[in-house]
Amino acid sequence: MDEGPGLKAPLPWQADAWRRFLSATEAGRVPHAIMLGGVAGTGKRELALAMLARLLCEAPGSGGACGTCRGCRLRIAGSHPDQMLIEPESDGSGVLRIESARALTEFTHRTSQYNGYRVARVMPAEAMNRHTANALLKTLEEPPAGMVIILVSHEPGRLGATIRSRCQHYRLGTPAPALSIEWLQRRGVGKAGEVLELAGGSPLTALELAGENGTGQLDSLVAAIDAVASGRRGVVEAAAEWQAVGALQTARLMQRIATQLMRAQADPRAARNGLAKAPGLQARLDLKRISRIADRLLALRGAADQSLSRELSMEALFLVWSEG
Ligand SMILES: [Zn+2]
Repeated sequence: MDEGPGLKAPLPWQADAWRRFLSATEAGRVPHAIMLGGVAGTGKRELALAMLARLLCEAPGSGGACGTCRGCRLRIAGSHPDQMLIEPESDGSGVLRIESARALTEFTHRTSQYNGYRVARVMPAEAMNRHTANALLKTLEEPPAGMVIILVSHEPGRLGATIRSRCQHYRLGTPAPALSIEWLQRRGVGKAGEVLELAGGSPLTALELAGENGTGQLDSLVAAIDAVASGRRGVVEAAAEWQAVGALQTARLMQRIATQLMRAQADPRAARNGLAKAPGLQARLDLKRISRIADRLLALRGAADQSLSRELSMEALFLVWSEG
């Protein structure tokens, strides 16, 4: 099917969602609330941005935003008065800004500065506090003309039914592996299939992983873990070797390996595609043990995250794999 250049979706696996959005927009049937829901790492943020850009563009072609009109220029500069981005605090707490509720209410009652749409994006929507959720609900109960709220959520189920029932839903699952692999390969990712498998099928997560030199690092970490788990190598020695990578990054990679090992237990296909170099590790650790390891890794990271005085210990990380 030829989509034409203007109809190009932000990401290749979003063609259906994008086409659906465009046809609603072109028919003047833009919903007041759009929910983009689905697992992390599949490009919901990119799709939300393309939607927002299309709605604020003053000269859209047959597809997305033009990128050059007044609306686009203001949006790109971050100063479009009809755009509002509700996001978590920059302190890493994951909590939406305290003033979000008031700001959303004010934004709702304003009229458009440019006689077009007013667009608010809430991301991640599940991080909304009660006040913001109430303000949002009020807006959705009596939506002013031209108001569009785009909600982005990894877990739409955590939002209240009263909010969910007022949204038009776009359910974005993990794309077909072939599409993701091609996309990753075009971005220079080697062993795209393996990295994608480790990322649980989420292409953007896979790209991030590969960007962190993930593949090479993962292979060596699997070998190091295997050596520790089999007793061929001591915990202290392995930890010293990984110190340069940093405990946080090592913990993240270990969590991915643990997840992959659990998947491999459940699905032989994952076992073949994923950690091809770790048959020993797969044989050594049964599901019960690997679940315990995953829990321990999570607890170690959680404890380190919560306390500024408590650093994540590399030795503790490797010790997890050597315990019986
Ligand atoms: Zn434009």
